[in-house]
Amino acid sequence: MNKPPRKPDWLKVRLPSGPNFVRIDRYHRQQGLHSVCRSAACPNQGECWNNGTATFMILGDHCTRGCRFCNVQGGQPLPLDPDEPARVATAIAELQLRHAVITSVTRDDLDDGGAAQFAELTAAIRKHSPDCIIELLIPDLGGDPAALQTILDAAPDILGHNIETVPRLYPLVRAEADYRRSLQLLQDSARSAPQIPTKSGLMLGLGETVAEVKQVMRDLLATGCRLLTLGQYLQPTRDHQPVTRYLPPEEFDSFRDFGLELGFRHVEAGPLVRSSYHAAEQFQEADHG
Ligand code: SF4
Ligand code: SF4
Repeated sequence: MNKPPRKPDWLKVRLPSGPNFVRIDRYHRQQGLHSVCRSAACPNQGECWNNGTATFMILGDHCTRGCRFCNVQGGQPLPLDPDEPARVATAIAELQLRHAVITSVTRDDLDDGGAAQFAELTAAIRKHSPDCIIELLIPDLGGDPAALQTILDAAPDILGHNIETVPRLYPLVRAEADYRRSLQLLQDSARSAPQIPTKSGLMLGLGETVAEVKQVMRDLLATGCRLLTLGQYLQPTRDHQPVTRYLPPEEFDSFRDFGLELGFRHVEAGPLVRSSYHAAEQFQEADHG
């Protein structure tokens, strides 16, 4: 077996600090709030929270799929929590967030994949925080156009769905997903609600080639997707898919330049980039680009 590559210095991060970070951190402790930022120990907490951006996971913490790169627990999910939309919207208002990202596990057990809960939460955030930008990072909804339409009708500011990796690696790391179905979802969204910018993202370092990544970028652009994030995959535990290599920052820069030349309005690319990193800046460029 090949020895895993050593983690390079550019992935080391400074401890977060700053007034907004301290306020949001305290709120998490006091209210027992679970955000993706905290539960994934995201390295960007200091920067995002100081800028008023945070990501929340809804629809429970058990996923009906089992992607080899993901640290979310598998297993039978609990029934939907009817109080969840009000609770998350209240947290977003109390934290005075400027940009809220809402994502979820995949709920293949639900008829609408959880679409109604996304829609209800979007309405609740609008009510409590009318100035907050709402970005939904949704699962593939089993390719159900009606479920997607439920979400689009709620009029989020950004609709995201991550393609995650190149199609050749789907059977290995994302066996229950379907590359074409994910592209179709992005295309359906862009066609049905062109006023809502669509966004996608990939993790690199899973064994993809440069040519494959560039082809995925072309495929995404062809769906109408205009916002893209590219970050380094990090293996969450020893049982997960190993990292094949750590891409140097310059390689991310060159993917960003390629994406901008291709026609994306914003490409956020770097070793520590996650879907919601610099989300507010991405939205501004989508809106005014
Ligand atoms: Fe939270 Fe996303 Fe920022 Fe990480 S990149 S701290 S998950 S908002
Ligand atoms: Fe994780 Fe999403 Fe895959 Fe579920 S579908 S295991 S939440 S990446």
